Amino acid sequence: MTRAFNFAAGPATLPLEVLQQAQAEMLEWQGTGCSVMEVSHRGKQFEACNAEAEQDLRDLLAIPSNYKVLFLQGGASMQWAQFLFNLCGSNPNGDYILTGEWTNRAVAEARKLLPLWGGSVNIVASSEDRNYSYIPDEGSWKRRKDANFLHICSNETIQGLEYNFIPEQLGDVTLVADMSSHIVSRPVDVSRYGLIYAGAQKNIGPAGITIVIVRDDLIGKARPDTPRMFDYKLMADNHSLLNTPPTFGIYLAGLVFKWLKRQGGVEAIERKNIAKAELLYGYLDSQDFYYAPVEKGSRSRMNVPFRLKDESLNAKFLAETEAAGLVALKGHKAVGGMRASIYNAMPMEGVQALVAFMRDFAARNG
Ligand code: PMP
Repeated sequence: MTRAFNFAAGPATLPLEVLQQAQAEMLEWQGTGCSVMEVSHRGKQFEACNAEAEQDLRDLLAIPSNYKVLFLQGGASMQWAQFLFNLCGSNPNGDYILTGEWTNRAVAEARKLLPLWGGSVNIVASSEDRNYSYIPDEGSWKRRKDANFLHICSNETIQGLEYNFIPEQLGDVTLVADMSSHIVSRPVDVSRYGLIYAGAQKNIGPAGITIVIVRDDLIGKARPDTPRMFDYKLMADNHSLLNTPPTFGIYLAGLVFKWLKRQGGVEAIERKNIAKAELLYGYLDSQDFYYAPVEKGSRSRMNVPFRLKDESLNAKFLAETEAAGLVALKGHKAVGGMRASIYNAMPMEGVQALVAFMRDFAARNG
C-alpha cells in the first residue's frame, strides 16, 4: 500500500487509523450483521453512534450546555441561506467581513434574501484592496450596533487567512462564524459565538455532513416562511434525525473525534499544527525561490498558499510533487499558485517531506 501525503483542501486527508477502523468494520458493524450504511437511522445502534459523536464533539470543544449541536446536510454553502432564515425572524440586517472567496459567497446569498425581508447587508470591512492577503484590523471595522449578526469566516480556505482573535461583542449582535476549514484544529471559546457552522470534509470526516453549533436562545424564532428542513429548532428537537441523516458521515466523524481524543484533544493537536505551520512558513520566508503571499499575523495554520517566483515552473513543480507522492498542491483556480492544506490528519512527516522536496526543487531549478 502506498498512501500519498495528500495536501488537498477538502475533501482532505483523514487519519490512517480511522480509515483502517472503518475498513475493519465495513462489512459488519457492532454485531448488527450489516455495515453502518445499511442499518436504520432509527435503530438503537445508530442512535447511540449519533449521540456519542455529538458528545465527543462537545467534549473536544468544551461546548457549553446551552448550545445545540446539529449534524446537517447541504454543506457550509447551504448555511449561508439557512442561518438567515433562522436568525432573521425579526431583524433582517446582517454585517459581514469580506476576507476572500467564501465570505464573498456568503454575502451573495445574503444579498438575495435580506432585502426581500426588508433588511440589508453591510460590509463592515474588506481586505479586497490587497488581494485578500490579510484580516482587516478590528479597529477599522464599521459595524452597526443594531445589526442582527456579524458574520466572519474565521479561516479562509482559498486565500489562507486565519483570525487570531475573536471579534468584540457589540450590543446584542450575534457573532456567526464559518469555521469549515479550521474547526477542531485549536481550542475555541464557543460562548463568544451565537452560531458556528462547518462543513466536515477538512478536519472532521467525509463530505456530506455539516456541523452547526448554535446557542439555545437563537432557535425557535425562525421566519414563518422557513422550510421545515431549514429549521434549526426542528432539527434540534429531533437530534438531527428529522429526516434520514448522512449516517456514514456521522459514524466516520465519530471515529475522527475518538482519534482526536486519543491525540490529547484540541490543545495537543493545536501544538502539532503550530509546529507544522512554523516549519512550512519558516522555510517559505527563508529563501527567495518561493514566497508566501499572506501577511504575517493573518496566516492560516491549515491552508498555506505559496507561489514560485518563476511561475513558468508551476507545471513542472506539480508534476514532480505528484510523482514524489506529495499530491494536490495546486492552488484554487480563483487564485492560482500552490496551496498546501495541512489539517489535523497531516502528519509532521508530510510537511517535512514537502519542505525537503521544495528545497531540492529550488536547488535544481534556481
Ligand atoms: N466555507 C469554507 C471556509 C470552505 O472552505 C468551503 C469549502 N471549501 C465552503 C464554505 C463551502 O463548503 P461546501 O462545499 O461544503 O458547501
